Amino acid sequence: MTDPIEDLPARLIATARAMQPAGLNRSTAGNVSVRSGDGFYITPTGMPYDTLCATDIPLMVLDGTHAGPRKPSSEWRFHRDLYAARPEVGAVLHAHSPFAVSLACLRRDIPPFHYMIARFGGDTIRCAEYAIFGSPALSTAAVAAMEGRRGCLLANHGLLVAGRDLAEALALAIELEELCEQYWRACQLGQPILLTPDEMRAVREKFAGYGQQ
Ligand SMILES: [Zn+2]
Repeated sequence: MTDPIEDLPARLIATARAMQPAGLNRSTAGNVSVRSGDGFYITPTGMPYDTLCATDIPLMVLDGTHAGPRKPSSEWRFHRDLYAARPEVGAVLHAHSPFAVSLACLRRDIPPFHYMIARFGGDTIRCAEYAIFGSPALSTAAVAAMEGRRGCLLANHGLLVAGRDLAEALALAIELEELCEQYWRACQLGQPILLTPDEMRAVREKFAGYGQQ
């Protein structure tokens, strides 16, 4: 986790505000959280991001209770369950971005049509089974679809990503929405040619050493 603890609410608000210009949402749909100690800060439910101040940001603990005057996002469960299941996760972001939602409505995994799919940890971006928003069933489905991965689609709903910190979570969300748009565009022209398991393995191996001096 690279975010300094003292200004986590301010960094969380900045990340939430960055979602709209990045094309990830147009209103209060979507939510973002960042791990802090034994719990996490999460955007509150139903408040426009441009009016938020640090005291509006609830701090939740892993038992699902929260501190602060505002109620946490109705989607807090899959944030909580990802932090509980995945020690390496430092920030979680969920959005109803247009291309991710469009593909999520087909309830299909995104296949390896582009090598950047490997950045999310596997050969596909899985689509989690449908369950109603905010429910324990949705959280269970989301955590399953995220196993070994850093992003997934939620059926008839949106996208979900998990990064080491807020900056990485935002970058992954932008990248996933971009991949969804590219896949959608390629499908307009025909059936995309998919990379093979060997080709994807080679990409993952190259990513593992990428950026190391
Ligand atoms: Zn949602």
